[in-house]
Amino acid sequence: MTQFGQEISRSSRLVEVLAVTVVYVIGARIGQVFAIEPGNITPVWIPSGIMLAWVLIRGYYIWPGIFLGAFLGNSWAYLSAESGDALLSTMLAGSFNGIGDTLCAVGACFFMRKYFQFGDPFKSLNAFLGLMVFGVVLGPLLSAIFGVSSLQIFGILPSDVYGASFVTWWLGDGVGVLLLTPLILAFAHPEDDIEIKADLPEAVFFAFAVMLYPIVAYSVGADDFQSSNLPYILIPILFWSLIRFGLRISFSVTLFFTICLIWLELLGLGPFVFEDQYLRIMALQIFVLSTVSSIFVIGSLLFERDRSYHLLNEKNQHDPLTKIYNRQYFDTQLLREIGRAERYKKSFSIIMFDIDFFKKVNDKYGHQVGDEVLIKLSGLVAKKIRDIDTLARWGGEEFMILMPETNEQGATLFAERIRAEVEKSKLAPHDCVTISLGVAEANPEATEELEVLGLLNRVDAALYLAKTNGRNQVQVAHEALTSADA
Ligand code: GH3
Ligand code: MG
Ligand code: MG
Repeated sequence: MTQFGQEISRSSRLVEVLAVTVVYVIGARIGQVFAIEPGNITPVWIPSGIMLAWVLIRGYYIWPGIFLGAFLGNSWAYLSAESGDALLSTMLAGSFNGIGDTLCAVGACFFMRKYFQFGDPFKSLNAFLGLMVFGVVLGPLLSAIFGVSSLQIFGILPSDVYGASFVTWWLGDGVGVLLLTPLILAFAHPEDDIEIKADLPEAVFFAFAVMLYPIVAYSVGADDFQSSNLPYILIPILFWSLIRFGLRISFSVTLFFTICLIWLELLGLGPFVFEDQYLRIMALQIFVLSTVSSIFVIGSLLFERDRSYHLLNEKNQHDPLTKIYNRQYFDTQLLREIGRAERYKKSFSIIMFDIDFFKKVNDKYGHQVGDEVLIKLSGLVAKKIRDIDTLARWGGEEFMILMPETNEQGATLFAERIRAEVEKSKLAPHDCVTISLGVAEANPEATEELEVLGLLNRVDAALYLAKTNGRNQVQVAHEALTSADA
């Protein structure tokens, strides 16, 4: 996927700008299904959310598409309105709409990136506040100022509804951003989503709960008390969703709930029971904005917690220089493997290796070059191991490999392969770097009880033998070489 601001050719930009225009117009037409005449005002303005997400993902260059889309989408609506008889007024009002909507998306993106570094509003609480302030509140305010004022100036909107139109326009654009921008960004960056923790039975229960609202609300009919209170089940269900199902599902469910609310409203089944059309729309918008934004604050905190937990975990498990696993992580894997080996009566092996005369490399070329040798060596071995193996830096210039389901012969063969590979790769500038390796098999059939210390002593003894025997070789710790003998 193309990243924000990435260079792309002129012709593909043009195609993309036209696509933006088409999507804007389609979104506007869908939104206008729910519009109140005159003045083209809907509970949720779909293009605002799509346009902001588009700019955030791709870059500012799509702005002509937003302008053109807003111009066409809005002019189309006024022309069909009774008061929109004069073509020139319609075109002028459409142009001002275009300016307002372009400024809204481009400006919100600019400030979100300036103050919060990245466009994805769920990476941190700060980023989410950026979306709220610039995307949901200030951008739509600008759009409403341009849009509603121009409608009035050019005689399309009667002056007595200016205030009500202004507020519903503003809130409608805000609802569009709140519902659609996070949704689109979450689908554009699935790798950033919170892990889904629920299993299938829970997912089935959840789907039932989600469907319950529209079904119950529809069957209750226009009972004022029930229909006005039922929407509040949105709150626990969205919490459930965020905690157990991640961002993509939560945002989709939120959108689904809002569509249900609007649909029930259009059927005259509440939940917001006011004679005045504007008041009904405003009540709906305020309900969606306040509940959804409060729940999303929790969502961004969850996301932040998830990310910092993973970062911390990564840090705790890896060696900062070579980026391979550290000794602590190796220890936990070794314990786990011993447990597995005993349970399934399967043997595994470990290999310990150490660079020969590494002090000389440091003395001759300096520590920096020594560090680079360690990094190159780790990379070389990391490429050779299987997915199920664990390579770790044991300390200094000593390394360990844990090889599940591998016997002594297999491990020795593998050790010999890396020994030869290291010897022929020029790891230091002018010298050949070699390694010595010790191999030890943990065989649950041969040993009464596998234990960490005995195994480590045996592999250490094998490595010692490889060193004293002349280095650049593999030695195997046989069962005879037990911890007592070493
Ligand atoms: P041999 O193992 O073959 O007996 O000889 P050697 O020279 O490698 O032995 P020794 O274990 O005594 O020395 C290890 C050296 O590795 C000492 C230390 O300066 C160096 N070393 C340990 N950790 C690092 C590191 O992170 N970076 C660098 N550049 N050097 C390191
Ligand atoms: Mg050494
Ligand atoms: Mg050493």
